[in-house]
Parts: sequence; C-alpha cells; structure tokens
Amino acid sequence: MEQAVEEHRSVGLGEIDWVRVGAAMREVRGNLSDDAMEEVSGFVVSVAETYLEKDLDGAEELRVEYMLSRDVNGWHEHGMVDLAIRRGERWHLYDWKRFGSKSFEPRDGQRLELDPAWVFYSTYWPGAVSWPGIISGFTYRNVAVQMGKIIEVSLKLSPEVVTRFKEKLQWMKRNVNWILPYPVWPQNGDACFAFGRECEHVATCGTETFPIIKRISPSVLKTFMLCPQRARYALDARREIGDTGEPAAIANDAAQWGTVFHAGIGDVYRQAWERRTK
Ligand code: SF4
Repeated sequence: MEQAVEEHRSVGLGEIDWVRVGAAMREVRGNLSDDAMEEVSGFVVSVAETYLEKDLDGAEELRVEYMLSRDVNGWHEHGMVDLAIRRGERWHLYDWKRFGSKSFEPRDGQRLELDPAWVFYSTYWPGAVSWPGIISGFTYRNVAVQMGKIIEVSLKLSPEVVTRFKEKLQWMKRNVNWILPYPVWPQNGDACFAFGRECEHVATCGTETFPIIKRISPSVLKTFMLCPQRARYALDARREIGDTGEPAAIANDAAQWGTVFHAGIGDVYRQAWERRTK
C-alpha cells in the first residue's frame, strides 16, 4: 500500500491517512495473497487519483456504502450504494465493479441498463418515491483488472426499464412463494460454469435441504434469474449474515479482491469527506 501511495503523492493524495486505508483493507483481506493485495492497493490509489478531486468538486453531501432496506410483505429487501454524491437537490449514485473480462465495453449499454441494482436504488432512495425523483443518474466505475485500467460508464434508466425490472422483482417473488416448499429449486445446468467459473455448489447441488430467508437484493435477483437453486443457496438461513445483510461471501479470490478494494476506496472517500467538512 505504502509503496503504491508513494508513487502518487505528487497528485495531492498525501493528505489521506494511507496507513488507515491499508488497515481497513487488511482487515478484510482473508486469504488474499501479498501480490493481490499489492495489485488492489495500486487500483485504490489509481481510482482516487482519477476521481476523488472531481467527485468532491461541488459536492454538498456524500455517502459511502449507504445501506437501503425495507421490509415488504414478509420480504426483507436491501441493497448497498457504494458511493452517493449530492449536488443541489439531486443525488448521483456510483458503483465500483471489478471486471476481469476483456469483453466488457462501454457500448454494451443493454447489459448495463439491465442491472437491477439501479432500479433498487432509484426506488429505495429516501425521498425517491417515484423515478427519477431526486436521483440524477448512475455511474459504473469498472476496475477492469486484466486490462489494467478503469472504465467509467454513466447511464440514465428509462421509465420502461424501471417498469420491466419491477415486473421481474414481482416475478421472482411469485416464483419463490410457489417453490418455497420444495427442498430443491429449479436447477439451470447451463449456469454451472457461467462467467468462466464453476459454481461452488456443483459437488453437492440438490442433495442438501435447508431453510431459507426471504431476503432480496439486486445480487440475489440476478442469481435467481441465472439459476433458482443457486439463489436458494444464497438465501440459506444457516449461513452467517454480515452487517450488510448479505450472506457471508464465498471465499474466492475474485470476491475477496472486490471486498478489499471496496474497503480501501471507501475509506479514502470517507477520509476525504471528513477533511472537507471539519
Ligand atoms: S446451483 Fe450451481 S451447480 Fe446447481 S444447477 Fe445451479 S449453477 Fe449448477
């Protein structure tokens, strides 16, 4: 961390307490190797170098890892916004994503538009009783690791997309209510190796029974659309629920990399805002 920071002190990020940032990252590093930690550190610094000053310019309010949740008809619905910045009356929401794929291109608008996270956030945000309400837009910041660069993509949801996703949400709830009594939910064999990674449940898929919690988040919705049984594993009530309300993360390097990155960049923004508002 310190080495990566030293290389970037010239851009004015030296005011950040990088020891504190490093400590926040190490706290969640899990089994991540020293090399991977070094790589994440480099990205945290690069992202801060690229965006921090621009983001703080004219910002009147800033929220980091802001949890939105509500209970609706026996469902716990929740989602976490990585970064939200208010200018004037309106908020702009940001999401840090780790993309390892070289195939990701900003022009892939449809894929971006279809992310349910934005619909959650745009309808759950305090005061956002109807879309677009007080949300001015959404931005993905994709840390594309294999390409060694960061890509920023901003978008606005159309009312049609919001409507489509609200329908998806209702569709998922209806299906879960219907298949709830079954010990194994529909399995999608095509999804076992989705995204180039083997599903962690391949060895035991469909052989276990366990209670589930009716908890929905953008990621659970996406998983359900991919493979209902996989979503059932994600909703497994036996698994530890962390502060975010999400099941404990499956230990794999990609997930851990993202967790460490979020911890680091989140602390950078918190510190910068604390300094600004002192
Ligand atoms: S839960 Fe995993 S292993 Fe089972 S069918 Fe779905 S994707 Fe395949």
